[in-house]
Amino acid sequence: MTSTTGAQALKELIEPERLLIDGSWVPAAEGASFPAIDPGTGEQVARVAEGTEADVDAAVAAARRSFDNGRWLRLSGQQRSLILWRIADLLEKRADDLAALESMDAGMPVSQARLMVGEAVNQFRYFAGWADKVEGKSVEIGPAEMRFQGYTRKEAVGVAALIVPWNAPVVATAQKLAPALAAGCSCVLKPSEEASLSALAVGRLLLDAGLPPGVVNVVTGFGPRVGAPLAAHPGVDKVSFTGSTHVGRQIVHAAAGNLKKVSLELGGKSAMIVLPDADLDTVIPGVATGIFWNSGQICTSGSRLFVHRDIADEVADGVAGFGRNLKVGYGTDPDADLGPLISQRHLDRVHGYVESGVAAGARVVAGGNRIGDTGYFYEPTVVVDADPSMAMIREEIFGPVLGVVTFTDLDDAVAAANDTEYGLAGSVWTRDVARAHSIAHRLRASRIGINVHRAGGVQMPVGGYKQSGWGRENGAEALAEYLETKSVVTRLAD
Ligand code: NAD
Repeated sequence: MTSTTGAQALKELIEPERLLIDGSWVPAAEGASFPAIDPGTGEQVARVAEGTEADVDAAVAAARRSFDNGRWLRLSGQQRSLILWRIADLLEKRADDLAALESMDAGMPVSQARLMVGEAVNQFRYFAGWADKVEGKSVEIGPAEMRFQGYTRKEAVGVAALIVPWNAPVVATAQKLAPALAAGCSCVLKPSEEASLSALAVGRLLLDAGLPPGVVNVVTGFGPRVGAPLAAHPGVDKVSFTGSTHVGRQIVHAAAGNLKKVSLELGGKSAMIVLPDADLDTVIPGVATGIFWNSGQICTSGSRLFVHRDIADEVADGVAGFGRNLKVGYGTDPDADLGPLISQRHLDRVHGYVESGVAAGARVVAGGNRIGDTGYFYEPTVVVDADPSMAMIREEIFGPVLGVVTFTDLDDAVAAANDTEYGLAGSVWTRDVARAHSIAHRLRASRIGINVHRAGGVQMPVGGYKQSGWGRENGAEALAEYLETKSVVTRLAD
């Protein structure tokens, strides 16, 4: 089932069973490899090197050398900026190949994977713009006769470990690499074992763009054997992690040894609140896209719908109808709106949540079933009569499953929306502008949409309130995650 472009991309961009360490493609120290599985077929499309602690040591040593002695940090911001632009240009040039790889490895339809590559390109262009604007400030220090003059410098934090998940790998990779490189950091990138190919392809394009050896190293493999030693490594100064809240906690513990700086982009359970005056022609497709895009495998997916009782049936029926009309298909099918879930294990987990909701009294009005028995396809699913206490409303499902809760009192809806350990995103749907902004301010989450869910570009910071994480990606705040501030003070006169 592999598309020609996918096979070509594999051949041209991937060194099979190799890690990228110090600018060279090398086998894993133990020589082992594992399969890259196409979730649309369940078949192996490539083999990926299975790194271990020895590879992490080698990668960190290479990153360390490039940071401590190498020429990356000595380049001017403008020179780093030019390399970031070249990376963006190369990603853009190979966008079809990258999209084909991403689709084959992570399952999303090629057209959507293409949009994701576009977002990755935007990341590199945006942070190329920041690379020569990393500025401190001049500070006047008392007493009044001005005996001291101070200034601050922003300096790269050092070697950054970048650990990413499988759900949108090329974007997650770019969201970390671009600001880290703009800041002048050296990096060890650890992609997910479920979808490693696009990170390896990006690694190749970074070298082609002229990034010096050792500045970015890519170590593929499993969480406990690569991610854990990387997060604990004394040669690493900073960990930037995107993934589940469960593993995020382990990262914090692992990083404690040398008190690394840590940023975490974790799970979510985002709420969409629909008021009775909302424009349903906007709400129905908007809410449906908010939950079903990438089969719900997006951290900011709107998986909880709070809808006013007066319009609840109409909205739920509309979203259910929208879901039924979506075509779930293999990534290269030009008509496919949604691809498969990432694995059999994940499919079982998603279905388990639907079953638990039904057992607790909720009702499926669309979907609720696996599609076929090849690949891991699941129907867009709408579950009504859900209750905020149900596991399917409280826990992250990470699948195309919308839980619908009705409300009559808006304050209750806002309180219920905030009654979660997560705080990543949310949206409010109404024609009343003042009310929309008031609710946006009351929602305890970092990315809020008004009459849209999950909108925002590279300029708009996103991250976690509560247990959805620490720090922000996108925007100038992402750059700050990779910088230290130094104060320098000069004594002017006695
Ligand atoms: P995951 O936490 O299972 O894995 C993420 C990464 O961590 C993978 O590379 C994995 O190999 C590695 N890992 C696993 N165990 C580790 C350990 N002990 N030490 C170090 N690294 C380890 O997450 P996933 O299943 O790949 O991705 C889905 C999750 O990611 C969801 O919870 C989703 O919400 C979250 N996510 C968050 C964002 C965000 O921006 N907040 C974006 C995308 C995904």
